[in-house]
Amino acid sequence: MENKGKIGVTTENIFPVIKQFLYSDHEIFLRELVANAVDAEQKMKALALNGDFKAELGELAVRIELDEASKTLKIIDNGIGMTEEEVDRYINQIAFSSAGEFLEKYKDRIGSIIGHFGLGFYSAFMVADNVTIDTLSWKDGAKAVRWSCDGSPEFTMGDSDKTDRGTVITLHIDDDDAEFAVKGRIQQLLDKYCKFMPVPVIFGKEQEWKDGKYVDTDKDNLINKVEPLWARKPADLKDEDYEKFYKALYPMSEEPLFHIHLNVDYPFHLTGILYFPKIKNTLEVQKNKIQLYCNQMFVTDSVDNIVPDFLTLLHGVIDSPDIPLNVSRSYLQSDANVKKISGYITKKVADRLDEIFRNERPALEEKWDNLKLFIEYGMLSDEKFCEKALSFCLLKNTEGKYFSIDEYKSSVSGGQTDKDGKLVLLYTTDKEAQYQFVENARNKGYDVLDLDCQLDSHFVNLLETKIENCRCARVDSDSVENLIPKEDKVRPQLSEDEQKALETAVKAVLPEGNDYTVTADNLGPQAAPLLITQGEFMRRYREMSALGGGMNFYGSLPKMYNITVNMEHPVIAAIMADKESDESKGLLKQVADLALLANGMLKGKELSEFISRSAEVLSSTLKK
Ligand code: ADP
Repeated sequence: MENKGKIGVTTENIFPVIKQFLYSDHEIFLRELVANAVDAEQKMKALALNGDFKAELGELAVRIELDEASKTLKIIDNGIGMTEEEVDRYINQIAFSSAGEFLEKYKDRIGSIIGHFGLGFYSAFMVADNVTIDTLSWKDGAKAVRWSCDGSPEFTMGDSDKTDRGTVITLHIDDDDAEFAVKGRIQQLLDKYCKFMPVPVIFGKEQEWKDGKYVDTDKDNLINKVEPLWARKPADLKDEDYEKFYKALYPMSEEPLFHIHLNVDYPFHLTGILYFPKIKNTLEVQKNKIQLYCNQMFVTDSVDNIVPDFLTLLHGVIDSPDIPLNVSRSYLQSDANVKKISGYITKKVADRLDEIFRNERPALEEKWDNLKLFIEYGMLSDEKFCEKALSFCLLKNTEGKYFSIDEYKSSVSGGQTDKDGKLVLLYTTDKEAQYQFVENARNKGYDVLDLDCQLDSHFVNLLETKIENCRCARVDSDSVENLIPKEDKVRPQLSEDEQKALETAVKAVLPEGNDYTVTADNLGPQAAPLLITQGEFMRRYREMSALGGGMNFYGSLPKMYNITVNMEHPVIAAIMADKESDESKGLLKQVADLALLANGMLKGKELSEFISRSAEVLSSTLKK
């Protein structure tokens, strides 16, 4: 006997709505159908465990079969099946879902019921113009049912010739979605969504190359070959297990630095494994993303609103049934559960790093250069993370030695406190380019930090706010005498006219287009005759705004340099004694070029002229 009826929805025809609604995401139909099949298997397991089902369970598995020629895709399970009444209730009355009832009854037994993705079974109509269900319930005396629908709100329901327990969903793929009648595409989707499903998912047979073509072997093509490691207890796992799992997730990637196993039951459920990947010194666009699962079923790899921004640089998986999945992004941001989850993950990551700092210091130092960008990014963008990170964040000096912030403070506070009691941290952003300045500072007994990462200009600012009474100065921001002023110094006294004359003379021998502030100072006969430095703050703001991108206030200002004329240098003394002579002017030009050269600022024609002039000077010494 065959029944006809109308599917119980309020809209006249739901299928056009379904098609349009998820237009760009047609592929999820397979996830939904396999999830339902896995659910049915899990329920079967629960029934057996509970003693409600006493016969032989058989080997539980979900099978997917594709016939490319007839464009027929079958999803086959040997789960609980449905009686006629259940098909009517769960399928015909769309809004109704049996999961609630079932959960209520078996809530202690059943760990994971997938589902609640909203569209469920009806997403099949996104890709098929005809869908048939053949199902036989596990219940004693149940009759097999066939339900069929061609995408209009009308369905037919009658007897089926199915003889074994479970459900077969048969889709006839429509012409617009022909891609889903191609083997490679289905394999790809199953790999994406079903890799870690809790029940074996099988797609046809494994193939082998024989007599010039691929042929089926008699071995099942199992989709979920890799064990979802995050579902196991951390105590049972070794480092190798985590490394192997990482390789399975991201086959093309280098080994990760560290891993964190997440496991929480209250106030929400969340498991997962996160990895710190090797991040190079650039903010490279990441291709390996954190994957979000719901009870071992892949949902998305866009976790932007679920984990804090800086943690999206991590790799790995998060699995939680408590993250609302089918809601808008703005809703996610304000969802209290999601906020809690994000806070929890941040805390776990910080705790793990702290543990590594305390128990595996050599490993942390060895990996620091790769970790640093990630941690600095975290400290700059997340206040809570920053508070914790201050205890495990490392600083590296130019000798390659690592210190915690506290260690560094006590190591340099003796020699690097200025006359006002401020601790001055010296740093270089480029050991090669700032070589001379680094050497001068080190010869004076100062320590110099190596801060050569993109975020470091921001990080230096952060250090100044987090370390009490502290100032950071790049080694080339002043003469070494003045980097850490020890006492009020007596500077050379110039009259207003003398100062003006000095300024004019010096500016005349420097490149145009920059702003110069000229000061006379006593730096000792050993120091350079003329020194070019860039004030710490203007330079830093310039760098920070450059990182922010675009033109802005600081970026648009001319570059400002401080020129220090060392009155105690014999060449300067000679120039000052005979200011107007051509020889003095030539000497001043040479002295200025040397200073430019030390800063990597002498280029092009000026550089070439400097070289020939220097060669002349050498020849003339020979003649003498
Ligand atoms: P949801 O999975 O969100 O509950 P669906 O529309 O996907 O919504 O399915 C509705 C109901 O139909 C399911 O809750 C389940 O009771 C039943 N069902 C669907 N597919 C199967 C199946 N393969 N085996 C047994 N029952 C099924």
